[in-house]
Formats: sequence, structure tokens, C-alpha cells
Amino acid sequence: MLTAVRRILPEQAVLYDEEDLHPYECDGLTAYRQRPLMVVLPETVAQLRDIVRLCQTRQVPLVARGAGTGLSGGALPLSNGMLLNLAKFSRILEIDPVNRIARVEPGVRNLAISEAVAEHGLYYAPDPSSQIACSIGGNVAENAGGVHCLKYGLTIHNILGLKVLTIDGELLEIGGKCLDSPGYDLLALMTGSEGLLGIIVEVTVKLLPVPESARVILTAFDDVEAAAKAVGDIIGAGIIPAGLEMMDNLAIRAAEDYIHAGYPVDSAAILLCELDGIEAEVEEQIAQVRDILTRNRAVDIRVAIDQKQRKLFWAGRKAAFPAVGKIAPDYYCMDGTIPRHSLPAVLKQISVWSDEYRLPVANVFHAGDGNLHPLILYDANQSGERERTEAFGARILELCIAVGGTITGEHGVGVEKLDQMCSQFDSAELNQFHAIKDAFDPGRLLNPGKAIPTLQRCAEFGAMHVHAGQLPFPELDRF
Ligand SMILES: Cc1cc2nc3c(=O)[nH]c(=O)nc-3n(C[C@H](O)[C@H](O)[C@H](O)COP(=O)(O)OP(=O)(O)OC[C@H]3O[C@@H](n4cnc5c(N)ncnc54)[C@H](O)[C@@H]3O)c2cc1C
Repeated sequence: MLTAVRRILPEQAVLYDEEDLHPYECDGLTAYRQRPLMVVLPETVAQLRDIVRLCQTRQVPLVARGAGTGLSGGALPLSNGMLLNLAKFSRILEIDPVNRIARVEPGVRNLAISEAVAEHGLYYAPDPSSQIACSIGGNVAENAGGVHCLKYGLTIHNILGLKVLTIDGELLEIGGKCLDSPGYDLLALMTGSEGLLGIIVEVTVKLLPVPESARVILTAFDDVEAAAKAVGDIIGAGIIPAGLEMMDNLAIRAAEDYIHAGYPVDSAAILLCELDGIEAEVEEQIAQVRDILTRNRAVDIRVAIDQKQRKLFWAGRKAAFPAVGKIAPDYYCMDGTIPRHSLPAVLKQISVWSDEYRLPVANVFHAGDGNLHPLILYDANQSGERERTEAFGARILELCIAVGGTITGEHGVGVEKLDQMCSQFDSAELNQFHAIKDAFDPGRLLNPGKAIPTLQRCAEFGAMHVHAGQLPFPELDRF
């Protein structure tokens, strides 16, 4: 295999020594690690096509990797598979300010798009907190969201076209520069497909004009449920903020320690509510939101006085995950979405379980979208703690389903949520997912074993009853 790959790629674009493979053994979900057979770094579609065809001929599985910031193990390598690092596909191919689009390669960093088009007064709206590092290809494969997706939509709402390499080495052009295209909506199908259906080699993104005015309000509350209720009331009043984020006390303290954003460290929760648009509209909405916050027992309401303070308020939120990473040896980031009206009850239940499992939880999340991110703090070096964390996390996801939500908001299924897919979907639905996979990749070589559980796995999962957080036969390895 190595000899064949070296005929396609230069020496430095093929990694196979153990020490070179180490950095690739996991993505952002560090609880799972596996070194791949080899890592390749092609930089042209022609090279990529030859690699894909080689893998198909030799039946070697392929895992695509963007920046490796994924939090569900989507880019976790396979021991018998090739890891396809797309970092060298980092060119911005076209910026068209008149039609407000850009064509970019998949390895371009999310933030780099907005930086490149800033001179035209434009930006790319979806802004995952990992945007300084994560790639647009990874964003499409995960249908990534971010702070500003409440008003401007997820990745799917902000892209127009894709070029995708199939496992047969065919280049598909899906969508384009126009708003609609005939035929089945393959753009939607590819978005969020977690590298299972094809390799994204080009993305056409929509660009938006930078709003005339953007103001953020930081509000402190003495109890989490009051903050959660205020979220529902703001949206219920017909206001769609550009971002509406919530942090609880543990997250506030961690972020403040790390960034010194001026957060009120004694409050139980804060809300960051950004309003944008034309000046007069923003002023009016600030007044309306203030009223709602006051009615919901807010104890401190601060409107950022200038752009510097606005950026500082957001910097704390955007750095909250690494900040929490500093206060515990490990954290497990959950990602479920629930109807907004269930926020108070679900947050309360999580805190009850946090005591029950003896595992602290920091909540920092896209409250306006009902997209929860409980970060369960644990220490993988303490025997049994990881298992306890996983059981706790699974319970949170099951609760999301029970209240009418979903097991993922934006981080994808990867390897992390395979079991919960069995709860979310029945066998007929899962069979349709497998049929779609087979239509694109009948040999199941693209990122196999991720995102869609086998029916066998679901049968085993269904037969396992978790009682009071205790798995039966805890001494047995799970899957
Ligand atoms: C601190 C932190 C904060 C985060 N905040 C957010 C957030 O606010 N919102 C959010 O949505 N996510 C967030 N994430 C998760 C993560 O950044 C996103 O899922 C992101 O989209 C992953 O991009 P990536 O380039 O790192 O992809 P990777 O992790 O490399 O890959 C992710 C998946 O995409 C597939 N893939 C990658 N590139 C391609 C390609 N070109 N073609 C086909 N498949 C491909 C991989 O196989 C894998 O299944 C955060 C992560 C961290 C560490």
C-alpha cells in the first residue's frame, strides 16, 4: 500500500511512522483514540482521486479529516484505514462580492473566509466557537452551527454548492451559485453526512453584509431556571437575536479566569443576547429585551458600551470550552437539542443527576436554539469515572429525546452517539439510512462504523437495561 501511495504523493505527504501518526489518533473527543494505518496529505483533486481509487481497489477504508476539532469522534481513524488529511486544500478559489458568494476548498478555516471577504463589507455567518481552527469541509460534513446561527441558520442554510468526490473517483457537482437547483436535494443530504457519502473538495458559501449595528447585552441571574425562562420569553416576543447564549456558574468562573471578560462570577447564570440590524431597530429591541429580562428577575443588565467590550463579552463565551478544560483533567461535551420551553426542567434534571453521579457539569450553550452543551467534568485516570461519565451523558441524551428533542444539535453522531441513534430512530428509519449509504458507497469504505448504528447493535443496546445509572455486568467491555 505504501509503495502504491508513494507513486501518487510526494514523500513528505505520506505519514506512517508511529510518532507521525500520534497527532492524528483522535479528534476533539479525546476519550477515543486509534492510530490509523497511514495518513496522507494530498493537495490536488487529481491526487485525491488516485488515492480514493487505490483504496477502493484494495478495499482499504478511508476517513476524511479536516481540522480534527469534531467532538463526536467522526474523524477517529481506523486501525486498518487511511486517514485523509485535507489541510492542504486551503485555497480560496473565488470571491464574488456582487453575487455575495465565495468558492473555497474544504481545508479553508471557517474564520479565514470572513477575514478574506471583510474588505468587501461581507462575512460568512455560521461561527462555531472553534472557528479559528475548524475547516469549512468539516463544517459541511457536520452541518456545524454557532453563536449566530439562531438568526442566520446553520451551515446548510449558508451554502449553495459542493463538489464531492465519490468512492468511485467521480466528481459530483451539487448545487452551484444559484439559490435552487433541480433534482433531489443532494446538497442537504451531503450536509451533515459525516464523511460517509463522499469527500467534499469544494464549497460555495453565501456571504452576508456585515450588519450596520450589533450590540450585546450581558445579563446575570440568581437562578438558572429564571435565565432559561427568559430565553423562551425573548423569542416568544417575536425577537430573533443574532445570538442568545447561556452559561452557568461553573462555566462563568472558568471563562472569567481564562479571558477576564468582566463576567459576574457570583451569578448562577448569564445570558449573552446579541441584537443586530439597522441602528434604530437595534435600539428598540434592546429596550424590549431589557423589559423581558427585568420581568424574569435579572439582577444585572449590561449593554456593551463599544465594540471592544462586545468582543470581550463574546471572547469569554467562545473560549469557554478550553477554559473548562483548564479546571478538570477531562471533560465530555454533550450536544442535544430540546424545545426551548423544556430548558428550565432539563437543566434542573441535569443538576440533580450531576449530584447523583458525583460529576460536576458546566453548562455553556446556544440557549436560543435549545441546543444544550453540558460539559461533564471527569478524570479519565480515576477508575470507572469515564464509564460513569458516559452513562450520565447517555441519560442526558435520552432525556432530550423524551422531551421531544434530538441527540445532536451540531456536533454530529460520530462514534459517540451511536447507541442513542437506536433510541431516536426505529429499524425502518435506520434501514433507509443504510440504503442511502449503500447507494453512494456500497463497499462501505467511507468512514465505516460511524454515524449510523447497525441493527444488531441496536438490538444489543435495547436488551441492556440501565438502572439508576448502573449498567448490568459492569466488568464487561461495552462494544
Ligand atoms: C472548542 C470547540 C468548540 C466547538 N464549538 C462548536 C460550535 O460552536 N458549533 C459546532 O457546530 N461545532 C463546534 N465544535 C465542533 C467542531 O469544531 C465542528 O464539528 C467542526 O465542524 C469540525 O470541523 P473540522 O474541520 O475540525 O472537522 P473534523 O473534526 O476533522 O471532521 C469532522 C467530520 O467531518 C468529516 N469531514 C471532514 N472534512 C471532510 C471533507 N472534506 N469531506 C467529507 N467529510 C469530511 C470527518 O470525516 C468527520 O466525520 C467545537 C469544537 C471545539 C473543539
